[in-house]
Amino acid sequence: MTRRDAILAEMGFSPIWKLREKSIQEEELPKPEKAWIELKQAVPACTACGLHKGRTQTVFGVGDEQADWLLVGEAPGAEEDRLGDPFVGQAGKLLDNMLAAIGLARDDNVYICNVLKCRPPGNRNPAPDEVAKCTPFLLRQIELIQPKLVVAMGRFAAQTLLNTDASIASLRGRVHQYAGRPLIVTYHPAYLLRNLPDKSKAWADLLFARKTMSAL
Ligand code: URA
Repeated sequence: MTRRDAILAEMGFSPIWKLREKSIQEEELPKPEKAWIELKQAVPACTACGLHKGRTQTVFGVGDEQADWLLVGEAPGAEEDRLGDPFVGQAGKLLDNMLAAIGLARDDNVYICNVLKCRPPGNRNPAPDEVAKCTPFLLRQIELIQPKLVVAMGRFAAQTLLNTDASIASLRGRVHQYAGRPLIVTYHPAYLLRNLPDKSKAWADLLFARKTMSAL
């Protein structure tokens, strides 16, 4: 006992409480929760590509972290960059409606994120080096969520997760595999806003995804 502790004990101020090296919370967190915290700290701290210079904030992902459904888009747009959540602009409204049409909602057994966590300037396509630098974050999210089924929305999500340069048209309508789980490819909601006739194909993809999920 130090002299200080002895004096405090004599005065009736014991036991002596000391700060632990790690906070109690940190020590007692179960592993996945700790891993989520680490990932949620790593993403906003990332400066691995040039996109960090232009971002208002990173856009991590939203929804149920133990969801059966994982939907992956391309990259944040202006609204997402401003608000910090994926798919909150026009494309997001369409996505919410599409989810509702198959009985799903973004916070209920669904997780939504993007390949890129930072907004490309002027909403240009993600560059290959940006995708390469950011993909580990997406893969870690998938590892932690362990979804039963992944829906890749658009070329960048599909090509990144399937490691292919095949077109969306050629990838649709089949069950692919990502890390041992089914992956279904569909059009990106922003593309559908510009190509309304393809909405019916996206609808067919979602029904196919729901059927695939029900059979798991
Ligand atoms: N487009 C995407 O791919 N992701 C978003 O979050 C918004 C628009």
